[in-house]
Amino acid sequence: MNRAALIQSVIGLGPSWEARPGWFEQHPAALNRPPETLVAIDIEPEASLAPPRQDAVTSPQPDVPLVPPPGVDIAPPVLPPLPQVQASPLLEWDALERAVRDCRDCRLCQTRTQTVFGRGNKQARWLLIGEAPGEQEDKQGQPFVGRAGQLLDNMLSATGLDRDRDVYIANVLKCRPPGNRNPSGDEIATCQNYLIQQIRHIQPTLILALGRFAAQTLLQTEKGIGQLRGKLHSYQDIPLIVSYHPAYLLRNQPDKHKAWQDLIFAKKTFGRLSAD
Ligand code: SF4
Repeated sequence: MNRAALIQSVIGLGPSWEARPGWFEQHPAALNRPPETLVAIDIEPEASLAPPRQDAVTSPQPDVPLVPPPGVDIAPPVLPPLPQVQASPLLEWDALERAVRDCRDCRLCQTRTQTVFGRGNKQARWLLIGEAPGEQEDKQGQPFVGRAGQLLDNMLSATGLDRDRDVYIANVLKCRPPGNRNPSGDEIATCQNYLIQQIRHIQPTLILALGRFAAQTLLQTEKGIGQLRGKLHSYQDIPLIVSYHPAYLLRNQPDKHKAWQDLIFAKKTFGRLSAD
């Protein structure tokens, strides 16, 4: 008799019941159980606790085709964040113009016809900033000439602004990217100090950033125009409003009314700032 049976006997619980060898295996219920109900389950304890590997996760089916149909523009790549620019000594305006004219700091100097510094009244209260010179700007050495420039002039005059008297217009890049391609992040990073110096000289009441590259460069953001327009931002405490680049508007006529809304918003904001 084992120790458990002895204790049970002493306290009056009678003999303990023990199954005969093979009792469970030979029980009718076990013998009649359909084999398919016996399911083997493989358990891998460590694997089940670990997070799933990314390459083992099945992606949901997309609602839209991953490859756009012919003729549909793919959104251009988002610019990488630009490094913070160290405040450099402020050059005199003429010296700044000469520095730009002679600049060979990035690859664009090899393909430009000439640099494009800016145009307008450097005492103006409005500063308009675009992206980079295009073909006509590269030929003439002036920003916003050609059809995009004419559209901008028309929009400005419709809001009562004279392009030579009331605004100064500059670009982020002072040299034309070949074939009017998008500026690259390193070109913008190399060139932006010239623009920063122009802003420090002009000290405008309001900046109007025209297009994604100008807006992203000045606001140090990766957000697109759609998220940035319609709001009052600031660059170094200067109020800044974002709108479309006129060259974009020439290709996307339906968005002209949005650009017009942006100009009205800018005009009202400027009026309020000037009254303060
Ligand atoms: S784009 Fe700017 S940094 Fe590059 S060469 Fe022209 S002025 Fe210099």
